[in-house]
Amino acid sequence: MRFETLSVFPDLFAPYLETSIMGRAQARGIFEFESYDLRDWTHDRHRTVDDAPFGGGQGMLMKPAPIFEAVRDISKRHPARPHVVFFTPCGRRYDESVAERLSHEERVLLVCGRYEGMDERAYELADERISLGDYVLTGGELAALVVIDSVVRLLPGALGDEMSARDESFSDELLEYAQYTRPSEYEGRGVPEVLLSGDHAAVAAWRRRNAVERTALWRPDLLDGAELTEEERALARAVIESSGEGGAK
Ligand code: SAM
Repeated sequence: MRFETLSVFPDLFAPYLETSIMGRAQARGIFEFESYDLRDWTHDRHRTVDDAPFGGGQGMLMKPAPIFEAVRDISKRHPARPHVVFFTPCGRRYDESVAERLSHEERVLLVCGRYEGMDERAYELADERISLGDYVLTGGELAALVVIDSVVRLLPGALGDEMSARDESFSDELLEYAQYTRPSEYEGRGVPEVLLSGDHAAVAAWRRRNAVERTALWRPDLLDGAELTEEERALARAVIESSGEGGAK
């Protein structure tokens, strides 16, 4: 899979993407990455990418011309047409299902805004607009890193253990169960006995129940999309009723 970014800060990406799991995945050819500097598609001495908004208002907006030229030019540089993503708080909320869908693309171009955002006409180039959540970042570069990281870890071979991406929060619309490691007692805090039992079926049953309870407690909104047995639905209802308003810790 190939990721490309278009940004006025093209050097922000490499330190993260060359480290740890992302670095190893790149070295093993699981994904390729290239960042482009939007200013390379400007034609004035100051390499200007922004201008004041029509109608007045605070701040500057990214001009349409460099973005149009850049996306058209970059698109032609590789045989596969890129799936073009623009980052904006006005986009579709990013979640694991979007990551899963993007992981099947051959080539993804991530266009990062800055300043007060972009001239609206530039979004015509977008196959989709993505928002990380209901807050405002200073730029789209962090959003691009979040997307690349969350998609790459879904690619075959990216994580050492093929099972680990599938077993995590959101993979089945439930949060992940609680996990513990050594020591089995820390300053008087123990771990659930069943996890030390060596009984795999009992461990799996405890984990499933714990995932349902935690999801009901912290993210009851996810339960509508989860496949639960009648017994699990009853458990979730009981947790929600007993937790009350703001009961989650
Ligand atoms: N004026 C814009 C608004 O109110 O919608 C915010 C612009 S923001 C300061 C600059 C850039 O950061 C945006 O163009 C976008 O690329 C990125 N950005 C900010 N918040 C984001 C979010 N929640 N999700 C994705 N990208 C975001």
